[in-house]
Amino acid sequence: MSNAPATPTPSDRPRIALIAHDRKKDAMVELAREFAPYLQQCTLMATGTTGGRLVNEVGLNVERMLSGPWGGDLQIGARLAVGEVDVVIFLRDPMTPQPHEPDINALVRACDVHDVPCATNLSSARLVLAQMLLKL
Ligand code: PGA
Repeated sequence: MSNAPATPTPSDRPRIALIAHDRKKDAMVELAREFAPYLQQCTLMATGTTGGRLVNEVGLNVERMLSGPWGGDLQIGARLAVGEVDVVIFLRDPMTPQPHEPDINALVRACDVHDVPCATNLSSARLVLAQMLLKL
């Protein structure tokens, strides 16, 4: 019998939601490049524009929701509320007012309600991903 770790099946792949506000999208791309070998083994979803950049610039396979201001955060929140998201990486821009602030608050609240890890800045995102990587 082989001791090689089994390739994760789709059902035991970690499900990660990725969202970045406009001024944080470069940082999201950088983070995703850094963790690309790990992220390729996860099931990824993202808001529209963030997801587009991750697909085009990092080559990840990402399910794209609507853009955040058009309801993408709410779509991710709805998935999370029924247990379909394990971790949220949400690089928020604290210096720029967002038109969909209520949606952002709803998603972060849903993380708290359902006790789902939610990293809202680059340093915490690195910590969360590094910890997940250890569990592989
Ligand atoms: P976006 O949405 O990835 O479509 O830009 C992110 C957000 O603003 O919530």
